[in-house]
Amino acid sequence: KARGKNNFQFFTKEINQSILRKSKLAIDLRKGLEHDEFFIHYQPQIDLKTEQLVGLEALVRWNHPEWGAISPAEFIPIAEDTGSIVQLGEYVLRQACLQNKAWQRAGLPKFRVAVNISSHQFSQSNLTETVHAALIDSGLEPRYLELELTESIIQSSSTAIATMNELKTMGVYLSIDDFGTGYSSLRYLKLFPIDTLKIDQYFIRNIITDLKDAALVATIIRMANDLQLNVIAEGVETAEQFQFLKQKDCNQAQGYYFNRPLPPTEIERLYGPAHNTQSPSHS
Ligand code: C2E
Ligand code: MG
Ligand code: MG
Ligand code: MG
Repeated sequence: KARGKNNFQFFTKEINQSILRKSKLAIDLRKGLEHDEFFIHYQPQIDLKTEQLVGLEALVRWNHPEWGAISPAEFIPIAEDTGSIVQLGEYVLRQACLQNKAWQRAGLPKFRVAVNISSHQFSQSNLTETVHAALIDSGLEPRYLELELTESIIQSSSTAIATMNELKTMGVYLSIDDFGTGYSSLRYLKLFPIDTLKIDQYFIRNIITDLKDAALVATIIRMANDLQLNVIAEGVETAEQFQFLKQKDCNQAQGYYFNRPLPPTEIERLYGPAHNTQSPSHS
């Protein structure tokens, strides 16, 4: 009985520490926005047939003044809960549009920049105005912007179709991120104006060794091809995974096998005017 009690105390101590960390991060997030502590890395998305760059996913980074780099997997959910995500998300959106336009002006090949949209952001009534303003202010053409939405975002918003239709009318591309991990409904693929499915890395991880994962991924690719949707595999880390996906007619991939998310200077070094013909780093 005594040990049970100790375990319980230990347990509550852990919980308290995690609550303390979260509430500190919530406060620091707001300060960090004022102090410009956020920046963006860009991860290449590669066409599997040509091995050319087709897009870059913008992934936010935070250098915490005391704790150093903190993963977005930790701070994005906190930003969501506290509402900071609206300001943070708008910052990423504007920055990504400005950066892509600057790259076009500097003579880099033209590619789309993909920006993650969180649930809280998607349900803001002025999302389409915010996107429109980011495009106008940067001068980026809408077809060079893609917004990544998750299944849960779409599911929890009653006005999702209307919002997505407005964004499509504007000319922006839409993708479903982490496809297959939410409460997916095949209805979404019929009803929503989606351009791209991003197969979650959870399914890609074991495609070579796990027959079920291999079958699921092959089926998602075939379905996307039949529906004339673009399909990207996320989290590609090995040559074997790359070959498997290519053989199954997946059109694009993203992952450490090609590149990690990179700072803008690295993108320029890889794809800048002097290096236009350079293929991904592995080859
Ligand atoms: P996501 O949108 O699914 O992004 C893909 C994540 O997988 C990124 O993690 C990326 O660095 C990682 N990744 C890419 N290739 C590989 C690989 O080959 N192997 C492995 N193991 N991982 C790979 P990251 O940057 O830590 O971001 C995590 C999540 O945080 C994102 O998942 C996204 O949901 C969220 N996030 C990041 N930036 C933003 C943002 O600006 N706004 C919003 N709302 N969410 C963001
Ligand atoms: Mg994403
Ligand atoms: Mg994803
Ligand atoms: Mg994810």
